[in-house]
Amino acid sequence: FVVCYNVCKSYGGREVLRNLDLTVKRGEVVTIIGPSGSGKSTLLRLINHLEHVDWGDIKVDGRYVGYEKSGATMRPIRDLAKARADARIGMVFQHFNLFNHLTAVQNISEAPIQVYRQDPKKAHDLALSLLASVGLGRHADHLPHRLSGGQQQRVAIARALAISPRLMLFDEPTSALDPELVGEVLAVIRRLAEAGMTMIVVTHEIRFAREVADRVVFMDEGTIVEQGTPAEVLDNPKEERTQRFLRMVE
Ligand code: ATP
Ligand code: MG
Repeated sequence: FVVCYNVCKSYGGREVLRNLDLTVKRGEVVTIIGPSGSGKSTLLRLINHLEHVDWGDIKVDGRYVGYEKSGATMRPIRDLAKARADARIGMVFQHFNLFNHLTAVQNISEAPIQVYRQDPKKAHDLALSLLASVGLGRHADHLPHRLSGGQQQRVAIARALAISPRLMLFDEPTSALDPELVGEVLAVIRRLAEAGMTMIVVTHEIRFAREVADRVVFMDEGTIVEQGTPAEVLDNPKEERTQRFLRMVE
């Protein structure tokens, strides 16, 4: 469903991703772990049309990300915002990134109305049912600052789900939360996984990765060092770098 082939990305001459290959099947849950600066967020941003690859290809559901056919050649898509809308990929960030001047329900119905031109009443009703599904039915009219971090992140997940995503990307969704709020957010993500959503989850929560992932990917210095089932990568890592990283975080 997601195919990254030989992906390279540099910032100012510094290689952040080098020759990275990754495949995610439909319905698969892949968690990515790895040290700070290893390129995890960059990879998610590339998959979600937030930037262009320098070299290599990314395909989501059979379509190239960031490039379009122009005659016989491929050229970078100029209208990334439109490509992003068409791709229907839901993304959840570490710092929630809610619109602070909009209520919970407005945050969720904003993209369906503004980007997808849905009927406002329908979008509102869908937003309410999504809020209820993440346990926030009674907070529909609250502004983000009146919600806890865990509640804000659950609104952010509901917002991502409102566009009927074909793929969900999570970038360290719990690392800005107080420890007692982590569980409620992980529970929502776990339910999505069980419902068969295709997901890539960057996380520092090794226990969660073990529990929810079909496959764990360990990245370091812009490349995949090791990948496999949670048991293979987390319990019996082959690579010395993986072993060292796990000793540090566990
Ligand atoms: P973390 O665990 O800290 O979130 P990460 O694995 O997500 O790290 P990235 O955010 O992908 O790492 O960053 C990889 C490298 O690329 C870092 O050295 C970072 O400083 C650099 N980088 C990322 N985005 C940019 C940018 N827009 N401009 C310049 N350098 C960048
Ligand atoms: Mg990151």
